[in-house]
Amino acid sequence: MVVVKRIKKIKRERSKKKETRPSRENQLGKKLAGIVSHAYRHAPAFKNKLDRAGVKPSEVKTIKDLDKIPVTTQSEMVSLQKENPPFGGFLTIPIEKLERIFISPGPLYEPIRIGDFAKAAAEALSVFGIKKGDRVLNTFSYHMVPAGLWVDQALQLLGATVIPAGVGLTDLQVKIMKDLKVTGYVGTPSFLMTLIKRAEEMGLQFRKEFSLRCALCSAEILPPSMRKSFEDDYGIKVADTYASAILGILGYECLEKSGFHFPEGIIIEIVDPTTGKSLGPGEIGEVVVTLFDKNYPLIRFGTGDLSSFTDEPCSCGRKSYRLTRIMGRVGEAVKVRGMFIHSRQIEEVIRKFPEVSRFQVYVSRSGHRDEWAINLELKEEVDREKLLEPLQRSIQESCRVKPDKIEFVSQGTIAEGAKKIVDQRTWE
Ligand SMILES: [Zn+2]
Repeated sequence: MVVVKRIKKIKRERSKKKETRPSRENQLGKKLAGIVSHAYRHAPAFKNKLDRAGVKPSEVKTIKDLDKIPVTTQSEMVSLQKENPPFGGFLTIPIEKLERIFISPGPLYEPIRIGDFAKAAAEALSVFGIKKGDRVLNTFSYHMVPAGLWVDQALQLLGATVIPAGVGLTDLQVKIMKDLKVTGYVGTPSFLMTLIKRAEEMGLQFRKEFSLRCALCSAEILPPSMRKSFEDDYGIKVADTYASAILGILGYECLEKSGFHFPEGIIIEIVDPTTGKSLGPGEIGEVVVTLFDKNYPLIRFGTGDLSSFTDEPCSCGRKSYRLTRIMGRVGEAVKVRGMFIHSRQIEEVIRKFPEVSRFQVYVSRSGHRDEWAINLELKEEVDREKLLEPLQRSIQESCRVKPDKIEFVSQGTIAEGAKKIVDQRTWE
């Protein structure tokens, strides 16, 4: 009898699961039709896109119609913003009504609303049960990029107390963590490890003298060895997230650590980068995202990241689909110390230095830190010392992350058509 009841219960739960997904898809489909029609009327750049593809907004009724809308790539957005500054024809409201404008590498100007991003971040943080009484060190930057502010608002939504620490000032941050009995951390995994190691160098016993219980990591890859050390050596629960400065949090781990759950309220697809067609579970393609910000509608915006998704239910009970790991970039762009480096950014710098004929970037890993080096070939012999300083400055200004090494190599070292960025990192 008990067995029968249990089976009935399982069947009921299964049918509930079946119901939940299609209804969520229907809901998102309705929202999609709404945003497409709104964007078509108010965002000239989006109207151009649909017109060129020969698609009428009324043809987009459900999620299945997504394929009809061309994907907008990040580099396309940079060009559109250059042609039609500052927002490339995607802003649907007068500029004076904007709360904030953020700046991402590219550069890309982003008139996004923090509130929408904060909801996804709160969803991610809630896996730890963060609540009133938690004190969370937010080490994301509060200027230029939106990460600091969206995490800040997410923590407020959950009722926690935020310590808006930003990046750097290691010794002070160690003191803050100890004095204020910080229970949560948000930031890059490498900076957390730097803080812990510094605390140990200062003669402190991390497990005994600190209260940190959880860490939400983002902006760089979390190596399994580092996660293990956080958990085993320091008793810190760690969840990784997949996020983009332009699109917010696009996936977060639950405590099962089995991929990145899609946040509620946004559409995430895996798309064939050559055809723009949406792919099924297990297939590898570009992560393409649709947000529902009426002021700045980003519909089928390509992240340039490669991944795949699974529709298998997760043992944590969440019903959302999950992205598997992020496998790399569609084009030549890599994330170094939390910042994207596009080959185009370096090309633009190099163009200002006619003495330089070719370049190649190498990204590697030293301990827990990303390192990047640039090899340069010269057209003719010049005073290298004189060239180095302005080159270094321009590259740092453009990429916002300092190269660890700039080296002049002899002519012919960099082959014609060679990869512009070589990522040599391994993640053991
Ligand atoms: Zn889960």
